[in-house]
Amino acid sequence: MQTVGELPQQVPATYNGDDLRVKVTEVKGDRVHFILDGVHLGLANSVRRAMISRIDTLAIDQVQITENTSVLPDEMLAHRLGLVPLNSEGMEKQVVNYNKECDCDSYCPRCSVILTLDAKCTTSSTMEVTTKHLILEGGMSDVGKPALSTDPKLQDGILLAKLAKGQEIHLRCIATKGRALEHAKWSPVAAVGFEYDPYNKLKHTDLWYEVGTDPKDEWPVSENGKYEKKPEDTDAFPFNEKPSRFYYDVEAVGQLKPEDIVLKGLDALILQIGQLRQGLLDLTNQGEQHAHPGQMMDGMEQPGGGAFGVGDGGYGGPNAYGGAYGGGAGAPPPGGGAYGYGGGATPAGQGYAPPAMPAYGASPAHFGGQGQQGGYGGGAPGGSRTPGYGGQGANGQGGAGGWGTSEPW
Ligand SMILES: [Zn+2]
Repeated sequence: MQTVGELPQQVPATYNGDDLRVKVTEVKGDRVHFILDGVHLGLANSVRRAMISRIDTLAIDQVQITENTSVLPDEMLAHRLGLVPLNSEGMEKQVVNYNKECDCDSYCPRCSVILTLDAKCTTSSTMEVTTKHLILEGGMSDVGKPALSTDPKLQDGILLAKLAKGQEIHLRCIATKGRALEHAKWSPVAAVGFEYDPYNKLKHTDLWYEVGTDPKDEWPVSENGKYEKKPEDTDAFPFNEKPSRFYYDVEAVGQLKPEDIVLKGLDALILQIGQLRQGLLDLTNQGEQHAHPGQMMDGMEQPGGGAFGVGDGGYGGPNAYGGAYGGGAGAPPPGGGAYGYGGGATPAGQGYAPPAMPAYGASPAHFGGQGQQGGYGGGAPGGSRTPGYGGQGANGQGGAGGWGTSEPW
């Protein structure tokens, strides 16, 4: 079998995770290129969308203009300022709240960063006002500082306005934490290139071409073609085949490093799935509580408790996704249900700790195997009414599962 690195040229035959494989082909400056093998198209696309729109960054949200005699109207200047990428590395430690949810009156250091701009042209030549004129107030850290290009030749900052002699701009910007779900200015990526099936052998794309021209000339194969086996013209149409290899090209704008964007995107997606799951569980448990008052408490009193992550992390823990995303270690609980989400060999409390991404799935059994003995679904005999979110949670033995969040989604 021909290979590129350790990646076979034959795409995986399954897309359910059995042949899961990731190959990072390039990490350079503001880009990461990687290949994800063996997952469903829907999941692959969710990863792309999470990177685009579900990562917290800083962006200027309000501008207080005291003087603007430039040719740009205030609104246009404010719009340009809003799109300036601001360094958001380590932001979550400093800017902990969304502005709208903060308990301050309008803004405070826990929900915002202040930048000021004072520029006046005093010479007869045109003055260029750039993001280098934006000064971070307070200066506790570099969080909120306008980002510069990773290219050493492009260190002049981003042009905001041009001033003729006598013109001036004085303003104050309030940058807040947000996500591109609300406005694209918070997106940490310029684009996420996403491709599968570069030879279009599955015919998902209708390659339009002029009559009399050769479609192969009109539609040259992309760079990613080199990672796959070129189909022969005589090959039969694989009508049963589904896409199972995906090429990502993440291009960062400047707020975050491209590799961090990938990790944070995955964090965001996992959190979202978990919240959906917890929401469904809460609904179910409510129903059960009405029907059998006290039963849930019984379950909670078992050693380890199981439900809601008694143990590390836990439901609603501070800044959670809790400590353990699927803890649990030992033997299968009697009557433990299916679909352990983490369980298995992952030691309790270490299943999923957000900054240490590799922890998730460190156990080969993270999505099956032993995990299937675990919490999700719970077990009828002896099981807690509220299954914990991990390994042994359901049977009230491990109880390291659980998770939560302080942020509503
Ligand atoms: Zn505040």
